[in-house]
Amino acid sequence: MIRENIASVEERICRACERAGRDRKDVHLICVTKTKPVEMLREAYDAGQRDFGENRVQEICRKKPELPGDLRWHMIGHLQRNKVRQLIGKTVLIHSVDSVRLAETISEEALRAGIVMPVLIEVNAAAEESKFGVSPEHTEELIRAISTLPGIRVEGLMTIAPYTENPESNRAYFAQLRQLAVDIGQKCIDNVSMGMLSMGMTGDFEVAVEEGATHIRVGTGIFGERIYT
Ligand SMILES: *Cc1c(COP(=O)(O)O)cnc(C)c1O
Repeated sequence: MIRENIASVEERICRACERAGRDRKDVHLICVTKTKPVEMLREAYDAGQRDFGENRVQEICRKKPELPGDLRWHMIGHLQRNKVRQLIGKTVLIHSVDSVRLAETISEEALRAGIVMPVLIEVNAAAEESKFGVSPEHTEELIRAISTLPGIRVEGLMTIAPYTENPESNRAYFAQLRQLAVDIGQKCIDNVSMGMLSMGMTGDFEVAVEEGATHIRVGTGIFGERIYT
């Protein structure tokens, strides 16, 4: 089932790339595996997937030792500062930085581990009260503040668009995020790149790809509905 689902998602990514005149290689599929058992991750791994997304540090720590070492873990959920130390060294990209305080902690812990941590800035594009993330208006200011930290490197932006039955209704948010990345990129801030755009989930990833996503995060479309206990 998982293999077939991945093939179907893959097919849809390819068609969206064709429509947008984009190279498939410029879109990274992240398999979102929160709440899912290690056996399911292994199936996705055996089907060729290497990028996996989780929203809890504990879950990465628990699953990582049980899976091959070349698997790339993405931290896509809200991150508490007291969990950062555990996370550093286990993730290739933190998608959810939305405050200077969190960035400072990441920078400190990364330096302690002898690395520079790549991160994305989470933008609350639709200004939803329930969501984390910095507002579009304050994004540049936040990035400027973070850019001076030695243990962290901003690589782009991330957003979680509103839940919707109609993916077209999120197109404007994705376009807005891309434009924000272009605008900030043009400021040529030291130590900041705007090359990555993490946007699009099961319900709207094709629209996100059409609007320039470099990383899409797909859970339900590959592993089925999540059951929270
Ligand atoms: C759970 C989650 C996803 C995946 O959502 P699906 O709709 O199941 O594809 C993507 N991004 C983030 C940040 C998530 O928390």
